Amino acid sequence: MVTINASCANCGAALKAADDTPDDQMIVCAECGTEVGRYGDIRKAMIDKGRSEIEGAVADMIKRFNKR
Ligand SMILES: [Zn+2]
Repeated sequence: MVTINASCANCGAALKAADDTPDDQMIVCAECGTEVGRYGDIRKAMIDKGRSEIEGAVADMIKRFNKR
């Protein structure tokens, strides 16, 4: 498992993913079940941005998915 450098915007738990998680895999918070977003999008945010921006990006993703 790898810890994603972001926490769940809903409950604050650290987000984790398996090492071999495919980019299109939906990351779901293990604590509260909130769908965070696709691993590829989160991974890209981790590479491109600093931690505070990742937290914002994850929060935005959660908002977007929960609007459906
Ligand atoms: Zn959560």
